[in-house]
Amino acid sequence: MKRIPVAGPWITQKEVEYVADAVANAWYDKANIYHERFEKAFADYIGVRYAVSLPSCTSAIHLSLVALGVGPGDEVIVPDITWIASAAPITYVGATPVFADIDPKTWCLSAKSFEECITSRTKAVIVVDLYGGMPDMEAILDIARRHNIAVIEDAAEAIGSEHKGKRAGSFGDTGVFSFHGSKTLTTGEGGMLVTNREDVYHRVLFLRDHGRPPGDKMFWNTEVAYKYKMSSLQAALGLAQLERVEELVARKRQIFQWYQERLDDVPGITLNYEAPGTKNSYWMVTAVIDPDWGLKKEQLMKLMNDYNIDCRPFFHPLSSLPAYQALEQARQAQYRNQVSYQISPYGINLPSALNLTREQVEYVSNVLKSILHSQR
Ligand SMILES: *Cc1c(COP(=O)(O)O)cnc(C)c1O
Repeated sequence: MKRIPVAGPWITQKEVEYVADAVANAWYDKANIYHERFEKAFADYIGVRYAVSLPSCTSAIHLSLVALGVGPGDEVIVPDITWIASAAPITYVGATPVFADIDPKTWCLSAKSFEECITSRTKAVIVVDLYGGMPDMEAILDIARRHNIAVIEDAAEAIGSEHKGKRAGSFGDTGVFSFHGSKTLTTGEGGMLVTNREDVYHRVLFLRDHGRPPGDKMFWNTEVAYKYKMSSLQAALGLAQLERVEELVARKRQIFQWYQERLDDVPGITLNYEAPGTKNSYWMVTAVIDPDWGLKKEQLMKLMNDYNIDCRPFFHPLSSLPAYQALEQARQAQYRNQVSYQISPYGINLPSALNLTREQVEYVSNVLKSILHSQR
């Protein structure tokens, strides 16, 4: 039997044609045509003024921190449960990550824990729309405003999600997206930084091209900066995907619904939450198993693997990773972040690739149910 992948894209002839056109024609005076179209269409879709295409979401977070003036001595608050890419750039700029707890329902940053982590050194917060779900955005933005803390919204997993009719990625000083091959909209590797702030926009354009303003023809660098640019082939692929974004998001929601129909009535399984007034784009269908079943995520993944089903572990708390053990902040977080440490050991991401069929979802759901029942 063919292996069921956990993630993967939906590519059509349109994408192939756009990339073929870019490789043939996007040179000389047309070198930037696909970037311009992709960025303009992306900003319109998210509902923001500016979008800058980049090689990854990690570079978008890095540039956000630099552009917002975060540096050595500053603290940046980040949820303990997320991919390490959300937090690693804090270290790149010489600042200190402070790991806050998550909310037990949304699995995103807890507003309460965020507020408790604030000190006089807190300069920014990175809010993550985990697995496509939305945090309590009003409370978080209100706390950030009161304490004069910059907000970076990591919407890498949440293209197409909404909160009160506004799109994910549009809430902070900057919003960042990933187009990695596993994400809902892909360019293979790639990312986007969006903002409504003109000052941040111009600073990012300058920083991502070795410290010179766009259009500089004299190769006159006024700062040592970065080289973070997307290729026109990726921009063409991204534009084609973006023109199909409603279809991509609808398919993710369809896949979630297929799972929900088959797993919702099983006691002791909690699937992704869609808070009232929000739209979840369900990047990864995620099941948290009640500890009463006596199954941790590592065991469960192994058992699913025996049936040729590829799963991923719910993110480990960042503060538990070897990468952060030298940091005093990690030790504090291990005591503080009880929700993160309670949920993480019992969660797995189920196959959520865009090419998944209803029959495959049926199979995965049946396997999961039979594994749980054989535990009894
Ligand atoms: C995928 C992901 C990133 C990083 O994206 P890259 O494009 O691989 O740099 C950042 N944050 C979150 C939450 C992600 O899931």
